[in-house]
Amino acid sequence: MSNPTNTFEILTWVVGPLQTSIYAIACTRTNKAVHIDCGGQAQKVLNDLKTQGFELEAIWQTHAHIDHIAGLPEIAVHSDAPIYMHPADQPLYQAAPQQAQRFGLNLSGGLPEIDHELHDNQQLSVGDLRAQVLFLPGHSPGSVGFYFEELDLLFGGDVIFAGSIGRVDLPGSSVDQMRASLERLKSLPDTTRVLPGHGPATTLGQEKRFNPFMQGF
Ligand SMILES: [Zn+2]
Ligand SMILES: [Zn+2]
Repeated sequence: MSNPTNTFEILTWVVGPLQTSIYAIACTRTNKAVHIDCGGQAQKVLNDLKTQGFELEAIWQTHAHIDHIAGLPEIAVHSDAPIYMHPADQPLYQAAPQQAQRFGLNLSGGLPEIDHELHDNQQLSVGDLRAQVLFLPGHSPGSVGFYFEELDLLFGGDVIFAGSIGRVDLPGSSVDQMRASLERLKSLPDTTRVLPGHGPATTLGQEKRFNPFMQGF
């Protein structure tokens, strides 16, 4: 905790027709890594982690939309890393083939079982790095963010984007829940860096000032 600046590394890939940003964060002391949102290019993700000497310890899902889970069948063939997801997105997960069809994606292979359920305020770790699960429903019923308080860092999935928010007109979306989730994000420090599921990184300070949805909608 004393000097977190050199203790981690983040890898980013932009995958699929919806240009989904997927990530890995690694503890550079222990070389343990977690993959956040296995949305595609699973083999490349595994190769890149291996090249850097990182060991994949777990897969954490922000939610179960197809563009964030499409790589799971492939990664499960090559890795035993357990998959974490919030149970409220299980119906979406089960409907992955229909989701794929809707977006013209080809979901080859069966989806692996979810190994662990995420819940609000759960404490997770990867090597020396600690994260807190923030339950942030609205875009989907089981959307979560992974908040690394010591690193001033939030993997927000599709809850908040630079200047925008995730869609709330999809099956299982809720405008009211989204409003409450955005309120909760307002309570985090302005300096929090947000790595979203789509588009460029931002900070919560930036979004509190300039994102119209943070003023209410
Ligand atoms: Zn989504
Ligand atoms: Zn998405």
